Amino acid sequence: MLYFNVNRSRECSALEEFEARAILGVSQGVSFGDVKKSYRSLVKAMHPDVALRDSESQKRATNAMGRINEAWECIQALEAIGRLGTSSSTASSAGSSANSSQFRSRNRATLVDECEVCGSWPAIPLIVSTVSTFWIFMRRVNYEGSLCRSCGLATSRYYLKEAMMKGWWGLGIIFMPIVIARSVIAERKLDALGDPIYRDILVITPNELPLMVEDHPIKQPIPLLASVGAIVLIVSSLIPTSGTSDPTQSASSSGSSSGSGLLKV
Ligand SMILES: [Zn+2]
Repeated sequence: MLYFNVNRSRECSALEEFEARAILGVSQGVSFGDVKKSYRSLVKAMHPDVALRDSESQKRATNAMGRINEAWECIQALEAIGRLGTSSSTASSAGSSANSSQFRSRNRATLVDECEVCGSWPAIPLIVSTVSTFWIFMRRVNYEGSLCRSCGLATSRYYLKEAMMKGWWGLGIIFMPIVIARSVIAERKLDALGDPIYRDILVITPNELPLMVEDHPIKQPIPLLASVGAIVLIVSSLIPTSGTSDPTQSASSSGSSSGSGLLKV
């Protein structure tokens, strides 16, 4: 119960309320009761008892719990004297002026279990790929990094969508199985991970909120039609030459010559 100890005599400034609400993941207008709910869910998620047992994980969990409890003490102290939420305008101006001095000196990069796009916890290392190709030209892109569930799904689906529209039309098609396999693996890992729940305000990331997740590309008409069309073309160009039992030849000649061959047969 160590983490529920409260020093009610502690004073808390407008800037500290602004910062405390950011740590607890609630905006300025949120009531005391809802801040409390957010605090309790963070304690459940971030407590050292549920962190991994290695010293680095324990240190991170302890640091995070320290910040969460300090923020909660500030909220409780303001609630006790009836000043909670009364200083939001002061706090926002204090927050913006603090960006130039106090905050910047304390900022830090993400840790391995924090999303490198939005800074949220938890995150896992992922590799996703895409390919676009036309005839002998191709462009492959791999993304490798720690991502939360939302940013991971958004990135993985965007990459797959690009490949489903642009990956079938040339030599780069040989990388499509890798793109698809990585997407399937990423979706499975991210589904098991759960939604992002905590963001340390000291983390510097390109976004402060997780990326929006689109429907899976298979459920979107344009990438679905592009892929089905491409697969139908490829399969139909293979059928006339399947008797030769030389799939490499038929695959490599799946362009104009075998396509016109199909029309004559
Ligand atoms: Zn994220």
